[in-house]
Amino acid sequence: MKKDTKIISAGRAKKWTKGVVNPPLVRASTVVFDSVAEMKHATRNRANQVMFYGRRGTDTSFAFQEAMVEMEGGVGCALYPSGTAAISNAILSFVKSGDHILMVDTAYEPTRDFCGKMLANLGVSTTYYDPMIGEGIRDLIQPNTRVLFLESPGSLTMEVQDVPTLARIAHESDITVMLDNTWASPLNFDPFAHGVDISIQAATKYIVGHSDVMMGTATANAAHWPQLRENSYIMGQCTSPDDIYLAMRGLRTIGVRMRQHQENALKVANWLAQREEVDHIRHPAFATCPGHEFFKRDFSGSNGLFSFVLNRGNDEALTALLDGMHHFKMGYSWGGFESLILAVNNVQGLRSVTQWRAAGPLMRVHVGLEDPDDLIADLEQGFARFNQVLAKG
Ligand SMILES: *Cc1c(COP(=O)(O)O)cnc(C)c1O
Repeated sequence: MKKDTKIISAGRAKKWTKGVVNPPLVRASTVVFDSVAEMKHATRNRANQVMFYGRRGTDTSFAFQEAMVEMEGGVGCALYPSGTAAISNAILSFVKSGDHILMVDTAYEPTRDFCGKMLANLGVSTTYYDPMIGEGIRDLIQPNTRVLFLESPGSLTMEVQDVPTLARIAHESDITVMLDNTWASPLNFDPFAHGVDISIQAATKYIVGHSDVMMGTATANAAHWPQLRENSYIMGQCTSPDDIYLAMRGLRTIGVRMRQHQENALKVANWLAQREEVDHIRHPAFATCPGHEFFKRDFSGSNGLFSFVLNRGNDEALTALLDGMHHFKMGYSWGGFESLILAVNNVQGLRSVTQWRAAGPLMRVHVGLEDPDDLIADLEQGFARFNQVLAKG
């Protein structure tokens, strides 16, 4: 079945929908039983899509978990109140004091903070690695390395990793391979076909798709699902059925939304590539993006999120560019229907083992579903304000 068809049917088995189109919203803390036999049945099957207690989920979560497995692969999917909770709980589920993990240097900032502030206190050490390290990862593996964590493409700078090579080498040493797969969403990269054991999504982004819910998912293969599920449950991770309902509603349109984000973003990126203020484009579909060859080999599409590097600029000029924007608002998230822009002056402060060298600041944009001609006009006026300030100085 093609992904576009799966999007429509995923998680809509009759046992969840009871015959209506969408699985109903089931809110619960307490689940009540009429007989000892019923209670025993629920207790025995509490990890297996039978309602037992609200924290284990209701039919609404079971339907969405099943949908995620149908979309992404693996055998089970744990839900979390944010993408960040999915990342920290997935890692915590597989390490103990004295262990070591390998973390990609281009990881999302809170992921880095979790390693530096939480794991370090628990006696778990972290070695950062260059996203483009490839075979070189072998030299960083220690006898106590338990987790190899990837994020592809990387946050802000967008390096695409050679996931199959990294996973193959990690598996030679029985290391669990986790991937922050948020950029691809469940549509554009098949984590399990590329050797990943646990695939993490900030569902907050394209799955929800409307900038109104925080949620995370971690989908695991058979070897890792029971440990991920039980340890996340022990840590009290659960997600509101109302939010899950919205995430499942978002999922139904992710295919058409992402194709339009992709088309709009490519139009804007191609326009930016011709601007004399722009040094280069950091979009996986562009040859100027490190790992472009892995994007071409492994991904089936892109979306609205990319970066570009300016060849000049100062704070005052950037402020003039950003302050007058009509459609691109400044915001830290992405994946909703609206366009966003961010200027990142301190990329190097978010890196430990890779060098960031650029003539000017890095700009990260999320291209929304507006008409791209209006977005280009917005950027063009922004560059005019930017150049005016630089000409004065
Ligand atoms: C936003 C994001 C997260 C975190 O998701 P939240 O739901 O905001 O906690 C994790 N990874 C990536 C790549 C993200 O962009």
